[in-house]
Amino acid sequence: MSSPPPPIEAKDTLDRASANSLFMTAVVRVLLLALVGGGIGAFFYNATVGLALVALIIFIAFGYHAWMLTKFFVWLSGTQTAAAMPDGNGTWGEVLSYLYRLMRDAKARETALNVSLDRFQEAANALPDGVVMLDIDNNIVWCNPVAETHWRISLANDRMQTITYLIRHPEFNVYLAARDFNQPLILSLGSQNVATMTTYTVQLVAFGEDQSLLLSRDISERNRLERMRSDFVANVSHELRTPLTVMAGFLETIEKVGASSEVKGDAKHEAKAELLKRSLNHMRTQTERMQRLVDDLLVLSRLEDAQNKLAETATDFTALVEASIADAAILSNGKHQITSDLTPASITGNRDELSSAISNLISNAVRYTLEGGAIHVSSQVEEKTGDFIFAVRDNGEGIPAEHLPRLTERFYRVDRGRSRAAGGTGLGLAIVKHVLVRHEGRLTIASVQGSEEHGSTFTVRLPKARVRAD
Ligand code: ADP
Repeated sequence: MSSPPPPIEAKDTLDRASANSLFMTAVVRVLLLALVGGGIGAFFYNATVGLALVALIIFIAFGYHAWMLTKFFVWLSGTQTAAAMPDGNGTWGEVLSYLYRLMRDAKARETALNVSLDRFQEAANALPDGVVMLDIDNNIVWCNPVAETHWRISLANDRMQTITYLIRHPEFNVYLAARDFNQPLILSLGSQNVATMTTYTVQLVAFGEDQSLLLSRDISERNRLERMRSDFVANVSHELRTPLTVMAGFLETIEKVGASSEVKGDAKHEAKAELLKRSLNHMRTQTERMQRLVDDLLVLSRLEDAQNKLAETATDFTALVEASIADAAILSNGKHQITSDLTPASITGNRDELSSAISNLISNAVRYTLEGGAIHVSSQVEEKTGDFIFAVRDNGEGIPAEHLPRLTERFYRVDRGRSRAAGGTGLGLAIVKHVLVRHEGRLTIASVQGSEEHGSTFTVRLPKARVRAD
């Protein structure tokens, strides 16, 4: 970057004291000249001639200043270039040379500013993102070529046009009106088909006084790849589902047939039958595990699918929690103490998705808490915010802090062996997170290890707008 323009130096600024001394010098000069002229006139001729000379000199000085002032005014109302500046003597010489210096400095600053501006424009033009500079009324002040392509605008034709007249999209209008500088907007333009649709992330950034920068990034390719990935997972899961169901059915039948055709008394035959039974049992457990995995993958792909809009109804949240607690009690088989403190509430949302999130959290608490542990489930409307808070607390061993931020990633487990033994798929918390994103909710995880207070708390926060406390 070029250096910033030099500031006006102190010696170049005309303060009141220098202006006064300039005035005094001009007056003293004229008076001295008049005195000398008048003295010479009086000395060689008489006092009248002396006085006349004094008047003449003052008149000439006055005339000179009037003439210079006229020339200066002509210059001021004309080209105002340094070359055309009038020449002057005495006080005028000083004033004009001071003005000349000022003009030279201003010119140097202007050149430096132009260089900076050119550099800035070069940099902005080289950016891979679109940049539009907007004034307070959302008029386009400037934009780079990428923004011209993104928004199909032309700086040459559309400068100072209101951007909402050019980008006609309801979501965009709402975003711009909200002036929320924290949240980006994902905007899909063009066709409804993902393969040909263009998707941008749009971010408004506050800039200068009441101005803003509209940044845009084309994420169509990333979206398409993401879509391909999730389609692939969904398709594979679908394809696996049927053969797995068939296998599970056959295994069940073979187990039943095996059991009914057991030959008692023949030790060799009994040992073989026992081995077969164990193998079949093992195969069934693994098949069930694969079925659970496939089911969870399908649930996740449905949650991820942007086209799968949330089907919302007023849902009795407390009934869902109570049903999940009943399932958890069966899973626990009396090995845990499960308590609850629930505030009846109705939540606007998708019943199946909310139920899946709730039961994932409660069943995790059972599966990861040792025998004899306690689990407490609570829900209430937060007084301060009006948000709905649902929490599942256990007194298990707790989770090391470094794992907490990654727990909602797919297949992330703190202890892989333990998760498998507990019948986990590694997708439970990812499902919870996706369900909450679709309901504008949030999951927070707190965990303590080692101390007497050990255990984990999974807290769900749903926004006030979704809550109807009964
Ligand atoms: P999984 O099917 O393995 O349980 P989840 O996504 O539900 O998958 O959970 C991810 C990981 O988070 C688990 O493997 C486990 O390590 C940890 N986890 C989840 N809930 C708890 C809990 N209540 N206490 C301790 N660890 C937990």
